Amino acid sequence: MTPAYDCDVAVVGGGPVGAAVALGLTQRGLQVRLLDRDGPAPRVLADGDDYDLRVYALAPSCIAFLEQLGVWPAMAATRVSPYTRMQVWERDPATALPFSAADARVAALGSIVESGLLSEALWAPLPAGVAQRGVTVTRLAADDAGIDVGFADGSALRARLVVLAEGRDARLREQLGIESLSGRYEQTAVVCHVETERPHAGTAWQRFLASGPLAFLPLADGRSSIVWSSAGADALLALDDDDFRRALGDASEYVLGEITGCTRRVSFPLGVQHAERYVAPRAVLVGDAAHVVHPLAGQGVNLGLGDAQALVALLADAQAAGRDLASPRLLKRYERQRRADVIDMLAVTDGLYRAFRMPWPGLSAVRGFGFQAVSAMPPLRRELIRRAVGV
Ligand SMILES: Cc1cc2nc3c(=O)[nH]c(=O)nc-3n(C[C@H](O)[C@H](O)[C@H](O)COP(=O)(O)OP(=O)(O)OC[C@H]3O[C@@H](n4cnc5c(N)ncnc54)[C@H](O)[C@@H]3O)c2cc1C
Repeated sequence: MTPAYDCDVAVVGGGPVGAAVALGLTQRGLQVRLLDRDGPAPRVLADGDDYDLRVYALAPSCIAFLEQLGVWPAMAATRVSPYTRMQVWERDPATALPFSAADARVAALGSIVESGLLSEALWAPLPAGVAQRGVTVTRLAADDAGIDVGFADGSALRARLVVLAEGRDARLREQLGIESLSGRYEQTAVVCHVETERPHAGTAWQRFLASGPLAFLPLADGRSSIVWSSAGADALLALDDDDFRRALGDASEYVLGEITGCTRRVSFPLGVQHAERYVAPRAVLVGDAAHVVHPLAGQGVNLGLGDAQALVALLADAQAAGRDLASPRLLKRYERQRRADVIDMLAVTDGLYRAFRMPWPGLSAVRGFGFQAVSAMPPLRRELIRRAVGV
């Protein structure tokens, strides 16, 4: 007897990564259900709307994937902000390590996009009946023929494969028996948008402070979005606006002059996670459900969209060839393809987090030497940029 399936693939979690998987698979002719608990909060822009406080720096490789999905032109017509230069420094902005799009021979190093607009771009083209909000998946049970996806209200659906895109609080991943290496960083990210005395000129700035990295990401309206990962985040959150602007000006060594305005602040506790496996019988992990990295390199969504692109290609080819979508060999191939990139990025972000926190005398001089050495060696700098932008 042929088992009855409600869909080929059930995607649990409609953040940017799950939504990209759902859209990509739908476009390649698979029957998909995208299931999300409480969001995300896709939004259609209205005049006068302020920017989302959550923004992502998307790398060119991810933008190419969004182009392939057909969603980038509409996004690019809104208020995405390409940036062509990045300056990284520790002690003196005059000695900042410069990265430029020209060095990497790309038009831009990346683009800053708002989280809600990215979600809207990925959810809007999904055919009716694919996406469902307000549903919490509480149970997964795989057997030889399929996998049952159970909801909080007691109902269920049956799929050939489940893609888990449930983000960092990966409860279902735990239910599948997949352990993960995880740790909490002694930093919390404080995020807001700021107005500055001088224009950002399409440049992203990042300073490595002993208390944590501080990034300025250029927004399309001339402001910058800041991500200040700090061991002293509670104190930063408690400051009134004037004192916060002064603290931020001091911490940024006034690279963009005085901070003349700021929005409300929000915070995100930071941690690192890496699942020991990305696959289980009839289930596969993508995005933060598989790996969480420190935001200092702005690579979390980029890694997740890389997962989505790889998985969509493998599953679509398998479907076209009439092969089993959940074959362990196929799922393992996905895991092999993604693991190396993820481990590279975990090593870089975790290594930088640790290196800049060390109070050892002399280490700062070594780091300063490293900055100058990279700066003085264009081929090395070019290679670092090409890796960062994924070209
Ligand atoms: C301060 C900060 C700055 C960052 N900046 C950048 C950046 O510049 N560039 C970048 O690439 N990355 C950045 N990141 C990382 C980025 O935010 C994450 O990597 C990204 O949100 C992960 O996307 P996701 O789709 O995997 O998960 P999420 O966005 O967490 O989405 C998971 C979804 O699953 C749903 N869900 C969970 N459980 C269930 C369930 N049981 N049933 C149904 N639905 C469920 C949730 O409601 C949610 O909508 C940053 C992170 C932080 C903290």
